[in-house]
Amino acid sequence: MLRKRLKNLPYGRQEITESDIESVLRVLQSDFITQGPVVERFESGIAEYCEAEHALAVNSATSALHLACLALDVGPGDLVWTSPNTFVASANCARLCGADVDFVDVDPQTYNLCAEKLEDKLALASASGKALPKVVIPVHFAGQSCDMKSIRRLADEYGFRIIEDASHAIGGQYLDAPIGNCAYSDITVLSFHPVKIITTGEGGMALSNQLHLYQRMKLLRTHGVQKHAANSVESDEPWRYQQSILGLNYRLTDIQAALGLSQLKRLDDYVARRHELAERYNTQLSPMGLTIPHQFKDSYSALHLYPVLVDDPTGAVRRQLYHAMIAQGIGVNVHYIPVHTQPYYQERGHRVGDYPNAESYYARTLTLPLFGSMSDEEQDRVVEALYECLDVKKAA
Ligand SMILES: *Cc1c(COP(=O)(O)O)cnc(C)c1O
Repeated sequence: MLRKRLKNLPYGRQEITESDIESVLRVLQSDFITQGPVVERFESGIAEYCEAEHALAVNSATSALHLACLALDVGPGDLVWTSPNTFVASANCARLCGADVDFVDVDPQTYNLCAEKLEDKLALASASGKALPKVVIPVHFAGQSCDMKSIRRLADEYGFRIIEDASHAIGGQYLDAPIGNCAYSDITVLSFHPVKIITTGEGGMALSNQLHLYQRMKLLRTHGVQKHAANSVESDEPWRYQQSILGLNYRLTDIQAALGLSQLKRLDDYVARRHELAERYNTQLSPMGLTIPHQFKDSYSALHLYPVLVDDPTGAVRRQLYHAMIAQGIGVNVHYIPVHTQPYYQERGHRVGDYPNAESYYARTLTLPLFGSMSDEEQDRVVEALYECLDVKKAA
């Protein structure tokens, strides 16, 4: 069988070019292999691209989320709200600071944290004298921005801070401006994990337009330790450093930053290619009875994921389709198991049934392969396999 000889197709995959490899090699042959001048160049490159004032490179988006919460003084007794339709890291960052987590259900069209549901939940908490969130973490699911204008308005009304989890969304735009510019938020977080849009192997970035937040995250990135200023009284003791707060080692390396800088040059091309491929999926899959992702006109998604929905709330059809596609060598996946249904969060009082939109979406969703270096032929394999697995008649 021809199909047997074809390589398994993943749902997402990085592309490493010769020039990526040369960039990394140059660092390996230089004096700095941990955080050095290339990390700074990568930070400037991302800040410029995203039109944010400050960018801090760290070793993962998980670390960036943790630093962002610490910089906003999230701690025991505080409450952080996020979307249930996300990777666990968007909620865990609050727990790592000792704060409690609650969720806001998603919009059934975009699968993003729903601004109206947020407004209802805030109004209810406020009216019943319950605690309001200190921080809300909207997640730009699949690369499309949340309704940041509305969330900003609510932040001003109810006094919470905003961390955007833009792990899926570098290269995307919201209201004709790049996601990451922090126009509506305090801090925006990016991920450079290999399945994301561009990669550094592992890596992340925290963006902010507020100097003090950037400085605090920078101090926390390196153990809370600072070199003494040259003109300080101890200037005859140049070995001195000073720890003022409790920090971590969340540094990115120059090796990784070199890969990221090299990949950044192709970011726009990758996102454009994802749009081309999504268009092809849209036209070919709509007749199959699958619900294709909704794209808003005022937004340009980075299209990290292409999730389709089957029309079966029980989850049985999605389960069958998943296994049938995998058997054909097509690496489909499921994003996301609602975070509040994880045992860790169940043990903390969250219940199945709490967020019906996220749960109904989860029962029906299947992520199809989509990545910047995907060929038309690879995509045709996915579509053919779907025809076969769904057993639908192909239109002439
Ligand atoms: C991937 C991802 C993260 C974590 O990113 P890492 O860089 O792997 O730590 C956080 N949030 C979301 C929404 C993600 O998809």
